[in-house]
Amino acid sequence: MHHPPTCMRCHVIMACSKTGVHLELMAGAEPYQLWSADLYRCKGCGAEVTGGFAKLPIAEHYQKSYAEWAKALKPVRYWSTFQDKNRGAETAATDELVRELGIEVIE
Ligand SMILES: [Zn+2]
Repeated sequence: MHHPPTCMRCHVIMACSKTGVHLELMAGAEPYQLWSADLYRCKGCGAEVTGGFAKLPIAEHYQKSYAEWAKALKPVRYWSTFQDKNRGAETAATDELVRELGIEVIE
């Protein structure tokens, strides 16, 4: 049993507001792992964090079942750093522009 998170603004333990929220860890623009965790909310200031992650991910990107799990769970995407998040956004924006303009990408 893990200790619940505390709100450092309000100095109270945050209450678990939902068990079993689904998250998708991204590597830039690419899906990496699917996770299950609990959502905690501070009743004082409304801050929300996830904690109590499972020991192992539900699925990893290289597994055949990954796409099916992701479709079924509708996870919230997250990144390990803002740099990685922005890299994902840039890559996604470039991909979209390529599609819009119908540019043929030579690899
Ligand atoms: Zn708070």
